[in-house]
Amino acid sequence: MKKYSIGIDLGGTKILLALVDKFSGEVVLSVKKKTRKEKGPEKIMSKMIDGIEELLEDSGAGIDEISSIGVGAAGQIDREHGILIGAPNLDCFDLNIKQQIQSHFDIPVYVGNDVEIAALGEMKFGAAKGCDDFVCVFVGTGVGSAIVKNGTIIHGATGTAGEIGHIIVDLNGRQCNCGAHGCLEAYASRSAIEKRIEGALRKGRHSAILDYMESGKPITSSMIEKSIEREDELVTQCVTEASEYLSGGIASIINFINPKLIVLGGGLIEAVDFFYRNTIKKARSKSLPVPATKIEFKKAALGDFSGVIGAAFLEERDY
Ligand SMILES: [Zn+2]
Repeated sequence: MKKYSIGIDLGGTKILLALVDKFSGEVVLSVKKKTRKEKGPEKIMSKMIDGIEELLEDSGAGIDEISSIGVGAAGQIDREHGILIGAPNLDCFDLNIKQQIQSHFDIPVYVGNDVEIAALGEMKFGAAKGCDDFVCVFVGTGVGSAIVKNGTIIHGATGTAGEIGHIIVDLNGRQCNCGAHGCLEAYASRSAIEKRIEGALRKGRHSAILDYMESGKPITSSMIEKSIEREDELVTQCVTEASEYLSGGIASIINFINPKLIVLGGGLIEAVDFFYRNTIKKARSKSLPVPATKIEFKKAALGDFSGVIGAAFLEERDY
């Protein structure tokens, strides 16, 4: 077996690439690049190719020591052909990632979506190690999830299973980016909290978060955490509301799928401990009694690296 694999996490704001030890799962070396989607898909591809070359050059690893390159992208994937079918956050449509990387490096390339690679990383070396029956829920700009059953990620008939962000929590609710109304993502994501806070500020409410905000820049998870530490009423109220909705979504998952474990990760979970604690407490109280007593919750353990580590192991999956 070859010693290393390369894992790539292609997100809306950055591309994280890592050389990963196939035996220990350790990140030997990583490189970060800004996505700059406005420069087009060709630029994104050339940054990925440059990043791979940098990893090989700086680590001294030879291409013959690499078993595969795995890419996880935030969007809908044709796994069989390695094509990113649609990624609104990246302005990429029908991008043949596999073919383009293989035209530079003659080794197997596998493409999956960003949540599934993160779940795969957590299953191999993180919070879900040793568990083959769990659901990962990631909360950041959006809300995403991946379902693992018998150690395999469930893709569904069209490869889109696990879209927890688009389960309906309010029939006549807020408009979601997907076009529907009342989706969980419109209530429980960092962007949803940001909209609530900004709306209240426009109406004249005061908040400690004003001390951290810069005009034209988004409200970050760390600004939210700092405001909660200062017991800011508005931010605490908006975060509590979001976690109520998220706990409803998670309780539905517990009742519907009955997994052994739920792993929660993503920027908002990592940064805002109150959000995590309130969500799991309320999710347990909203679930049916029997699964509620058994369900286990854990925070994702690999942080930013869960995606690249999982992507490095994509080759072992059944497509
Ligand atoms: Zn939606």
